[in-house]
Amino acid sequence: MIRKILIMFITFFIIFIFSQSGNSSTINKKSIIYEFSNNSNFSYLNDDGLPNPKWKVYLTIELKENTLYSRENTNLYNTKNGDYDQQLKLLRESTKTYFQIYNNDFINNYNFKFYERKSISFYAPYIQFEYSDYNNLMKDKSNIDDLLQNYLVSNVYISDEYLYNYTTRNDFLYLNKSTSNYDFSKALNDVGLSNMKQQTGEGINIGILELGILDDYTNFQIDKVQTYGYTKDAHTTQVMSILGGKSGIASNANLFSASYLDYSLYNCMNWLISKNVHVINMSAGVFNSKYTSTSSYIDYIVKTNKISFIAAAGNREKILNAPFGISSPSTGLNVFSIGSYDVNKSVSYFSGAWDDPYQGRILKPTLVAPGGNLIGIDNIPDKLAGTSFSAPIVTGIVALLMERYNTLKLHPEMVMSIITASTKKLPTQTNTWDSDAGFGSVNYLNTFDAYEHTTMYQINSNVLPDSLVQTTNLIVPANNSIKIVNFALYNSYTSNIADDPNRELPFEFSKYIIKIYNGTTLLSSSTSISNINFLEYTNYSSSEINLTIKVFLSGSKIGNDIEYASLSISGIHTHSYEEKWIDNFYHLSSCWCGYQVQVQHMFEYTIYYDRHIGTCSCGYTFSGPHDFEQVIGFSIDNSESPMWIPKFRCRVCGYISYEL
Ligand SMILES: [Zn+2]
Ligand SMILES: [Zn+2]
Ligand SMILES: [Zn+2]
Repeated sequence: MIRKILIMFITFFIIFIFSQSGNSSTINKKSIIYEFSNNSNFSYLNDDGLPNPKWKVYLTIELKENTLYSRENTNLYNTKNGDYDQQLKLLRESTKTYFQIYNNDFINNYNFKFYERKSISFYAPYIQFEYSDYNNLMKDKSNIDDLLQNYLVSNVYISDEYLYNYTTRNDFLYLNKSTSNYDFSKALNDVGLSNMKQQTGEGINIGILELGILDDYTNFQIDKVQTYGYTKDAHTTQVMSILGGKSGIASNANLFSASYLDYSLYNCMNWLISKNVHVINMSAGVFNSKYTSTSSYIDYIVKTNKISFIAAAGNREKILNAPFGISSPSTGLNVFSIGSYDVNKSVSYFSGAWDDPYQGRILKPTLVAPGGNLIGIDNIPDKLAGTSFSAPIVTGIVALLMERYNTLKLHPEMVMSIITASTKKLPTQTNTWDSDAGFGSVNYLNTFDAYEHTTMYQINSNVLPDSLVQTTNLIVPANNSIKIVNFALYNSYTSNIADDPNRELPFEFSKYIIKIYNGTTLLSSSTSISNINFLEYTNYSSSEINLTIKVFLSGSKIGNDIEYASLSISGIHTHSYEEKWIDNFYHLSSCWCGYQVQVQHMFEYTIYYDRHIGTCSCGYTFSGPHDFEQVIGFSIDNSESPMWIPKFRCRVCGYISYEL
């Protein structure tokens, strides 16, 4: 109740400010943000050295939200064991009801004429026009000038970045000489997926954004794949064969494949979200090291529609020409940016690396996965090299994790903190995070412990500066190391960067700091100024230590809406059992760490008047007639001379009967 009142108050407050601005003639005119590839070191050429087939220009309009309507669905987080898919569906339907109408109403006030295609996001405040070239766009200049003066407009972008290249290597030297082949089964073993068939991605919907759709269904069950597009494409088949399908990681997941060559990116995303996808893979990008309008759009989608978005970090074009770089949209603050490593566990030479153009505010890549010369994937004859193939390994793992822990379907912030906390450093890696390997290699096995030590929390608008926002206590055994990651979903529309054409001013978002205490003694603090904070701690002593881990807001909260964050700690092992039937009395409980114990079945009974059915969590069930014994009598009234009758109880299930 208190929260509702608070939200209403804020809503009116913002309306007041906006209407003031709207009526005022002193409002500053915004600048257009240009995102032209040819203004940077990067060329029009794709990996093959060929020019892109078409070169169009895009006008992107990012709106401020109209706060007359609150989209925040606080009930989403109050249901403990709810139907997560149903909740997601309701959330996204309410988001769509809002943005589809708002965006259309907004743009219908303008008279754009010379575009080829108009795309309206149904799930975020973004509108995009595609023009055949810059000259045609300039014919609509008066409309653009009007946009720049509209108080409901957050940013206006003109870009050519829409043609995302695949992040695949085709260079002969790398594929044949530079590095050994990496067998797919070994790669799966290296990311903690060996003998892990308890999860298969059942019930998980994976979205795939590619230039096309499957060109070959050999690896797939037709009823598990839906497509949006018509261009058949081998890269799509390669990527999807890694993350899902008969030979991929999440072999029972539902796959939704959308082609952004055939339809616009926004329309593809509209379709994917309407299919209730839980995670999206994009093995493509523009290698520009920029936080772009697309990064911002995806950040918004992730936060508002609760989707985990995994994108390839991108490939350096040539060692000398581009020593650094990360592809957009993997530069997004809510987006996983996945780099590649080789069979020798070193970062692939082509894997996107960060030169930190945003001075610590964006940390990329997020992590790495196998992607150098992958071979041995069923029905894929090619050697696969590129961050294009690292990303779907992480996407497959996220799908398995969501199947194991259904609550993650609603919490992309938890997925991010768990996956990053549970990585393994590459052998050459010294820092917790570095600009080549990110947090190191993804590892599925390690995520189970991280999940057990994860707490999701929210920060409301009334929080005071520097407040304590989260606390957790932990016992760290002797000679044990832990890694702590705190991640907060970034609210893209709160950033105020319109006056900075290079988008290199400080991003405005809430900052956090992790502190580790033993009692009142401060042992260590995090230093990251990004929306992801991290800290490693090793207990070098010969006895266990009690730690209190606290997360504080660092300075003031930015923006008025609720912020979603998650704190994960990895390195403390809690057995996590999978049970296997041995005989009618016992099952074997095995932890992935190797620990096993034989225990008696624990039955839950379904009781009928004449029989019972017992079910154990290992899957064993049995059914039988009740096995009655007589127990103490029962008084049927409270009168002066109580009557006693015999009573019978089933020795097995406890069912009570008054007659045999
Ligand atoms: Zn264990
Ligand atoms: Zn059992
Ligand atoms: Zn019984």
